[in-house]
Amino acid sequence: HKYVYDFAEGNKELKDLLGGKGANLAEMTNLGLPVPPGFTITTEACKAYLATGREPDGLADQIEAHLESLEREMGRRLGDPDDPLLVSVRSGAKFSMPGMMETVLNVGLNDRSVVGLSAQAGGNDRFAWDSYRRLIQMFGKTVCEVPGEEFEHALDEAKRAKGTKNDLDLDADDLRGLVDAYKKIFAKHTGREFPQEPREQLDLAIRAVFESWNAERAVLYRRQERIPADLGTAVNVVSMVFGNLGPDSGTGVAFTRDPASGAQGIYGDYLANAQGEDVVAGIRNTVPLQELEQLDKKSYDELLDIMARLEGHYRDLCDIEFTIERGKLWMLQTRVGKRTAAAAFVIAGQLVDEGLIDLDEALHRVNGAQLAQLMFPRFRLDHDFQPVAKGIGASPGAASGKVVFTSARAVELAAEGEAVILVRRETNPDDLNGMIAAQGILTSRGGKTSHAAVVARGMGKTCVSGADELDVDVPAKRFTVGGHTVVEGDVVSIDGTTGKVYLGEVPVMPSEVVQYFEGSLDPEHIDNALVRAVHRIMGHADARRRLLVRTNADTGADAARARRFGAEGIGLCRTEHMFLGDRRELVERLILARTDDERESALAALLPLQRADFEEIFREMDGLPVTVRLIDPPLHEFLPPLEQLAVNVAVAQERGEDVAQEEALLAAVRRMHEENPMLGLRGVRLGLVIPGLFAMQVRAIAEAAVTVTRAGAVARPEIMVPLVGAVQELETVRAEAEKIIAEVVGDSGVEVLIGTMIEVPRAALTAGQIAEAAQFFSFGTNDLTQMGWGFSRDDVEGAFFWRYLELGIFGISPFESIDREGVGRLVRIAAEEGRAARPELKLGVCGEHGGDPDSVHFFHEVGLDYVSCSPFRVPVARLEAGRAAV
Ligand code: ADP
Ligand code: MG
Ligand code: MG
Repeated sequence: HKYVYDFAEGNKELKDLLGGKGANLAEMTNLGLPVPPGFTITTEACKAYLATGREPDGLADQIEAHLESLEREMGRRLGDPDDPLLVSVRSGAKFSMPGMMETVLNVGLNDRSVVGLSAQAGGNDRFAWDSYRRLIQMFGKTVCEVPGEEFEHALDEAKRAKGTKNDLDLDADDLRGLVDAYKKIFAKHTGREFPQEPREQLDLAIRAVFESWNAERAVLYRRQERIPADLGTAVNVVSMVFGNLGPDSGTGVAFTRDPASGAQGIYGDYLANAQGEDVVAGIRNTVPLQELEQLDKKSYDELLDIMARLEGHYRDLCDIEFTIERGKLWMLQTRVGKRTAAAAFVIAGQLVDEGLIDLDEALHRVNGAQLAQLMFPRFRLDHDFQPVAKGIGASPGAASGKVVFTSARAVELAAEGEAVILVRRETNPDDLNGMIAAQGILTSRGGKTSHAAVVARGMGKTCVSGADELDVDVPAKRFTVGGHTVVEGDVVSIDGTTGKVYLGEVPVMPSEVVQYFEGSLDPEHIDNALVRAVHRIMGHADARRRLLVRTNADTGADAARARRFGAEGIGLCRTEHMFLGDRRELVERLILARTDDERESALAALLPLQRADFEEIFREMDGLPVTVRLIDPPLHEFLPPLEQLAVNVAVAQERGEDVAQEEALLAAVRRMHEENPMLGLRGVRLGLVIPGLFAMQVRAIAEAAVTVTRAGAVARPEIMVPLVGAVQELETVRAEAEKIIAEVVGDSGVEVLIGTMIEVPRAALTAGQIAEAAQFFSFGTNDLTQMGWGFSRDDVEGAFFWRYLELGIFGISPFESIDREGVGRLVRIAAEEGRAARPELKLGVCGEHGGDPDSVHFFHEVGLDYVSCSPFRVPVARLEAGRAAV
């Protein structure tokens, strides 16, 4: 079994096996770019290790063979006392998990080779001892779990002794002393001396990378990002190049376009005389990449050249890690870079213009989750809000909340339902929990490539980084800025686009993208790259998609908005809200009716009210189909709660008031009490039990359609019967409805369809029979999920879903994204058998799933005609339906 690949043996398609970092290092090697030689240990080796707790057979020999050939190529042996080869041992999974797993630099240094390293660098003792102390620090922390702060304290101590704040002021002797201090820390925590044997260092580091796959923060990140838990990580062993050799050396990160806005240009950070993680960790302040031009024009030009080549090659925005060793440029990493939602759209549009990709490809480069983010509200700044600080707009959005300074506090307050802003000097991977819990993240240090920025962008969280006017004092739980002191619990607002920070809660307004969908921004006539890109890509999605997109709307206003957002009809108009408010009293009369006359008079009073509701909706949806669901919830939901009523009656009796009416109501509520209302008298069952109720609704719908049509519009009502489980239920309702419809529509030309929801498992399994009586099916995937799993939606999510997610029983709540295998199978069966019985049967879905990106793809695959979702989700569903079709 081949567990080890030289960089020259791999390529970018092998991410499953070599991880993203390894596959792209191989790709760059084969493109002829300057990559330090090395090799990659596969994810299979990692999986084997994690499964059995030991390295698989043959791995050690293969590492030996590849190491030998690396040593031959470099003309140096690992850890050779006179002229050492040093390597880095780097994790790299299929999906990038920034900072989540481990990397160890300078492997191969020991008490003897540190001298050889100095000689190799022309007698640069300072550099050699600096590299050695870094090894002990990283190795101690990541391989042997020595608490990182101990090393940091020792470093601070050394700086204090020297009277400096800058690690560059430490000389060779200081660093040699620091190495001694580090070794003591190491020995104290591990009970052994720092390992001097280079191959042992290498093997332990490799094993630590394998194990870092299951580190708590990596597990958490994967869950958040929905990365499967069983992929494993690859391990890259890369010969070291040194950015800490002096002022003519350095290290940096770069993006081929702005990952925040998508704008073209040069974006990156550079730090002279530094190694590896110094840039990301915000140890010292970086300079903008442009300044490298003055420092080292040759390397700068070469870097720009390589960046252009990489973009052309990957046909996408790339991010890059590089190091300059004494004027020689080395590429240490590249990947197709993470970006904000806005940048995703803008870049996809630009790449089409540049001829690098076509519009189908552009559709795949964006997704519904990103579009949903672009529809979040923005701050409205026409008020008296002056920013108190300006940092870097690291991840867009408008977030307000109470300030917290620790991850733990963020989690606590968020659990109480508070919006919080996590404020830190700089975040690190241990802050992940808090970042997930917070509305936004605010840091006083670090650029666009800092930990906070990268992770927030990945999660779609608002983040302002590097707001250096803020003086953050975490232990005292406060920060000061421009004369203000902000303590834990004070409210601040942060704008992740502009980087501005405000005290208090700033009001919000619709985003540009929403304004565009609303029709108040014309993409042809404004200079807004984002709106133009969204317009173009949405246009292509509409041209490509087969699924129609309808909306769930119960009012004329919702219907009108959804129509502007592109809805092609109403897939679910609920009628129950039409029984609330002033109309409650009429419902009470209906329920309390003792005679046919009383009941009929209550229904007669409800009829014109319902009719007016429908008229408004039909007018707004002129020409488009409107599916109206007959009343679904149990009637007692419209009555006052039992306890309250009982108290009222008792109090009134006490006062000697006439309580006949209330007593009757109380008796009705008692009579109608149900242990399991969701499985009780609701939906079609109500229609069969309460004479005239459905008839009244059908009449209101038909009469409204006729009125609107006579006025010159086109009403296309579709009457939907809820909770059907047997064809006989539907047949009974339908026979009554058809009589009323025939009588009402006469020769008006109005056509009314009658169909059913498929939301009870039995209906899905007898869909062939039900289709005989239905002109359409609409899958009610909320109830279908509820009844399919036997989960009460209102009860289970908070109660035990966290445990199910933890155990991987499902990766996401089945109420959020359709369970393809189970509930999805019911949909599939019903669609197939329904169509077999009635080929022209219209099929749609009206559960929450209609606006969920993954579910939309599923409904496309199953061959439904449309999805229906809330108005704000309509653009998301259009986009995803287009993506599903290409
Ligand atoms: P991460 O995935 O967290 O970015 P990396 O494996 O990329 O971790 O390494 C951490 C840092 O060390 C990066 O800045 C990287 O550029 C640097 N680095 C890794 N390998 C080498 C090497 N062989 N020579 C010099 N710097 C390296
Ligand atoms: Mg990296
Ligand atoms: Mg339902």
